[in-house]
Amino acid sequence: MPHHRLALCGKDFINWFERYTKRTLKEFRMFSHKDKILVAVSGGKDSLALWYLLCKLGYRADALHINLGIGEYSEKSLQKSRDLSLRLKAELFVVDLSKELAGIPELQEKTVREACSICGLVKRYNFNKFAREKGYSVVATGHNLDDETSSLLSNVLNWNLKYLGRKSPVLEEEKGFVKKVKPFCKFTEKETALYALLNGIDFIEEECPFSKDASTVFYKELLNRIEEKFPGTKLRFYLEYIRKILPKFNQTDTTDLKKCKICGEPSPTDVCSFCRLKEITVR
Ligand code: AMP
Ligand code: ZN
Repeated sequence: MPHHRLALCGKDFINWFERYTKRTLKEFRMFSHKDKILVAVSGGKDSLALWYLLCKLGYRADALHINLGIGEYSEKSLQKSRDLSLRLKAELFVVDLSKELAGIPELQEKTVREACSICGLVKRYNFNKFAREKGYSVVATGHNLDDETSSLLSNVLNWNLKYLGRKSPVLEEEKGFVKKVKPFCKFTEKETALYALLNGIDFIEEECPFSKDASTVFYKELLNRIEEKFPGTKLRFYLEYIRKILPKFNQTDTTDLKKCKICGEPSPTDVCSFCRLKEITVR
């Protein structure tokens, strides 16, 4: 790990990974042992490793999986999440999008929005609604350093200030939104994959067939090439953003937030985007 000036064996890597996570949890005041945590698990390496580690560290952590109805890919994702639930003896809740509304393939056909954008919307909506209704104080996701820096780069290149103000590892609870945290934000994809492998966590390796939009994949590759030449760039890009740029935004600017007229979830418009999606699909 040139960016940390470290080279470790498997056992030491696990120790290092766990200590580093604890430090991140503390540094950003993510949660305490009193919190009821809901881990959003996709069946992938990051979120399953996160759930595993939080349980190992003695946190009260249940999980939520959204079954997106994407054929075999979704079936496998659910199965991997179920397998870990059995191993951890921890509760896994499942929201079935096909029953609640319609699967992603169907939703995509009925709207002009891209599959990834619809998927992001239904996930965010369900994480928040489920957590609040069931009394969870924090939602934890498995976003890693590669996820965060690629989206940061894309938002910088487009000067998308709205998103640049919200790329924080912690979003505090506000006006109907449950607190959101990303405890793995400082780990690269390789590091979380290695931690999962070393702990015998079976995860889904395939990419979603709709896959991430091509630009995200391209930005990740680009950042990896820069990282190879200048180790430490990714971590610095992210940490300096948190230290220097994020504080310049007024994060508590939620003056425009109302309650959706239909479902009561927080929304900047009278009817939230999830309910609008619902209206289109039942038509
Ligand atoms: P992604 O947007 O696919 O890169 O995933 C980012 C994070 O969102 C993952 O690490 C999970 O914590 C969460 N997530 C993604 N897909 C699902 C899903 N189908 N169900 C529950 N959580 C998910
Ligand atoms: Zn609504």
